[in-house]
Amino acid sequence: MGRKGISQVSKVAAEGACLGCMKKPSNLRLIRGLCSSCYQAARRLVVNKKTTERELVRQGKMLSKANSGRPASNPITLSSRGL
Ligand SMILES: [Zn+2]
Repeated sequence: MGRKGISQVSKVAAEGACLGCMKKPSNLRLIRGLCSSCYQAARRLVVNKKTTERELVRQGKMLSKANSGRPASNPITLSSRGL
């Protein structure tokens, strides 16, 4: 269980829940693993230069563009992303 953070992200995403608020959006739509309100909040942080998308992805708060369709659970994929 040493990589708890990553498995948590995969689990949340696999369940169709938002990585931000951990809830399933009522319309079941996720953008980069986030519900629309969390995605807007994340975008705002990026636009205001509080953080970057790359940093959010690294922290498990957003899915990378390449993996927005399905969560990455393969350890090789994860390590290639610098996690
Ligand atoms: Zn959310």
